[in-house]
Amino acid sequence: MSDKASVSSARDAEDRERHPLAMETLVSLCAARGFIYPSSEIYGGLAGFWDYGPLGVELKNNLKAFWWRRMVRERDDVVGIDSAIISHPRTWEASGHVEGFSDPMVDCRTCKRRFRADQIEGERCPEAPKKRAITDCDLTESREFNLMLRTELGASVDESTTAYLRPETCQAIFSGFKRVRESARQKVPFGIAQIGKAFRNEITPRNFTFRSREFEQAEMEFFCHPSESEKWFAHWREERLQFHRDLGFDESLLRTRPHAPDELAHYARAAEDIEFLFPFGWQEIEGIHDRGDWDLTRHTAYSGKELAVTNEHTKERFTPVVIETSVGIDRTALALLIAAYRRERLENGEERTVLHFHPALAPIKAAILPLSKKLAEPARAIQKNLRKHFNVFYDEAGNIGRRYRRQDEVGTPFCVTVDFDSGDDGCVTVRERDTMEQKRIPIEGLERYLRDLLEEGL
Ligand code: ATP
Repeated sequence: MSDKASVSSARDAEDRERHPLAMETLVSLCAARGFIYPSSEIYGGLAGFWDYGPLGVELKNNLKAFWWRRMVRERDDVVGIDSAIISHPRTWEASGHVEGFSDPMVDCRTCKRRFRADQIEGERCPEAPKKRAITDCDLTESREFNLMLRTELGASVDESTTAYLRPETCQAIFSGFKRVRESARQKVPFGIAQIGKAFRNEITPRNFTFRSREFEQAEMEFFCHPSESEKWFAHWREERLQFHRDLGFDESLLRTRPHAPDELAHYARAAEDIEFLFPFGWQEIEGIHDRGDWDLTRHTAYSGKELAVTNEHTKERFTPVVIETSVGIDRTALALLIAAYRRERLENGEERTVLHFHPALAPIKAAILPLSKKLAEPARAIQKNLRKHFNVFYDEAGNIGRRYRRQDEVGTPFCVTVDFDSGDDGCVTVRERDTMEQKRIPIEGLERYLRDLLEEGL
């Protein structure tokens, strides 16, 4: 049963250089194994929309649960909410999105396609990529194009109101600030967090899920006194970097990039991106922003409701400033897949594909594999017990080597093999994904044994 690998498990910088990962390889693995595939695939897909399959949804749920645990459950000074996707349309006037959430666009008069004016440098014309750069096409002047997706509310055309699918999750945190602060009995400084869908009519969705039109954000808005904004900015920058390290990202895959003053969004006083080294280059996965008092001041002005607070001790009345941490769940899930992917040569000359996820993030925690179909009963009993605690998978089809390979390919950290000795000695063999080492473990202590390893380091 032994199938040792001759290489170490960490996908370090040197290894990535020797075996660069082609995005096509990952995209096809994701579709074939049920992580991520095009939405409405049977109709040819819809650009910028993706569906997460049985393994993808587990990966994403584990990522979101870890974020929630770090950002909400483990802290006294952050509380969570889950707000509606559609807010009162005035929200988006107050936030500046109706007026300013746009990208500069150019249209091609020949092929009728639209491109982002700031992203055409070095791009080829999709109609004639061999012959022409986009800059040599017959382009219109650049115009601003609003990225918000609209919808209509109301039963009749005359009475309908234009509403927007939120382009970011944070605005409901600002409009609900007073309600949440009072009901949760929180005092500034404190934060409000939420995870949810956001929608942007991206003109050039690309790089798999990296730039989608529907995606998920995990955002936390931390409200503090203006004199403490630098302190909290530094605090959250460190916390968030550590989060990405804890996900298992090697230092060589992470960097931070402060925004230059001319890059700052309309609301921001300072901003720093956390970037990941994707196969298509360094790209943002998270933004840390000092939003000043822009949001609360604007919502006060547009709603007529006072959102300032009073310091109990000094009686000072002030509008809190906001430090925001905003991470894309889909981009981080993509980064997890990229960082985890590895082709390895085994000692017996065979190759295997492995996803080296941190066990806590792996979609399946343990696969229960009876050596023979005759051992189904005791194996099913183990599955029944373990599935109460975490996601397990039962597989009795094919030879054991092939079953190991299937689990390696989807990143399952443990395979539990039930053999003909198990009935006598009350033990099973636990094979570890990365080292491929095997240990005999008593069935009685199996759940505790796996649980300790699953939580290690987090
Ligand atoms: P970009 O410059 O790449 O368009 P952004 O600066 O507009 O991103 P933010 O508005 O700061 O992004 O959003 C916070 C996070 O939400 C980003 O770091 C990213 O992870 C995620 N995100 C933003 N737009 C998209 C998108 N179109 N698809 C997937 N994730 C996105």
